[in-house]
Amino acid sequence: MISFLDLKAPYLELKQELDDAIARVASSGWFIGGPEVEEFEADYASYCSAAQCVGVANGLDALHLALRAMDVGPGDEVIVPSNTYIATWLAVSQCGATPVPVEPDACTYNIDPALIEAAITPRTKVILPVHLYGQPADMDPILAIARKHGLKVLEDGAQAHGARYKGQRLGAHGDAVAWSFYPGKNLGAMGDGGAVTTDDAQLAERIRVLRNYGSRVKYVNEVQGYNSRLDPLQAAILRVKLAHLDEWNARRSTIAARYQQGLADCGLSLPYVPGWSEPAWHLYVVQHPQRDALQKALTDAGVGTLIHYPIAPHRQQAYAQAGWTQGAFPLAERMADTVLSLPIGPHMHLDDAAQVVSRVTANA
Ligand SMILES: *Cc1c(COP(=O)(O)O)cnc(C)c1O
Repeated sequence: MISFLDLKAPYLELKQELDDAIARVASSGWFIGGPEVEEFEADYASYCSAAQCVGVANGLDALHLALRAMDVGPGDEVIVPSNTYIATWLAVSQCGATPVPVEPDACTYNIDPALIEAAITPRTKVILPVHLYGQPADMDPILAIARKHGLKVLEDGAQAHGARYKGQRLGAHGDAVAWSFYPGKNLGAMGDGGAVTTDDAQLAERIRVLRNYGSRVKYVNEVQGYNSRLDPLQAAILRVKLAHLDEWNARRSTIAARYQQGLADCGLSLPYVPGWSEPAWHLYVVQHPQRDALQKALTDAGVGTLIHYPIAPHRQQAYAQAGWTQGAFPLAERMADTVLSLPIGPHMHLDDAAQVVSRVTANA
């Protein structure tokens, strides 16, 4: 039995360090904000080469509060990928703004920069690329379009901790990056967590105010804010895990290389990695025309797989009011029908990857 992802293994590898971190928070009596959160924010900003990091409660809030801090509101439009986890879209909708989908590049699965300009209107305020599956989006053309049209760029980095674009770690290529520390992400907490990194001190300050009831000074409320704080217990856990992120990403990369080589000739579409990309390999996603049959065969053979994602956001009931019909975004729809995520993670053994290769080649 090869599980899709082992969420207990990271704890077991770092048990002593994590137990110490948890005990330190428990005995400090500091359960909201404080030094653990500030230390993690400083560590993660430095890891990302960003000037600022603001911890928040989860990845969706990181996106939402960053958009709010960019003054996105009712009547505004935000350009999003047609194929992404629905959180990217929901953050836009939560601001009262409209997500405007743009189709992906068929090779990289990330938003196609060549299609962005046609989607820009006088109401567009932000371009929101997602570094899907841990592969960096092609940031330079996106930033050039944003500059030309006076738009902000918010990156959804929820799947791409540690990935590099043209040699530089993601963290502040655009105006800000939203991160999730959901347990299954490359940098995962033992519960919910999120953050925004940015080089813009004013933007960071606006998010700090928004995450704390719209307040800078206790009981003085400047704006109608939110309660969206990174828990010190999670911050302490994340500090421990951050020190291992590069090594864990390197292990993911070894698994991915094994798959790239072993699956090259079995008729699947494999991930395409442009020369400028150093992916974080959050997911290893293949495409197969008979995806459901392949998934069933792998399940029967004891190989856990998942589908990221089975329904494109524009086909979700949650967005039915927008009136998008079948065929509105064919690439996103085709991906929903054909993608399959194979097991990958920092604690997966290479022999298990070899097993997966032989099961996939036998059934593809
Ligand atoms: C996980 C994820 C989010 C949301 O993060 P949460 O912490 O679960 O709120 C947003 N965008 C993408 C692409 C994600 O994968």
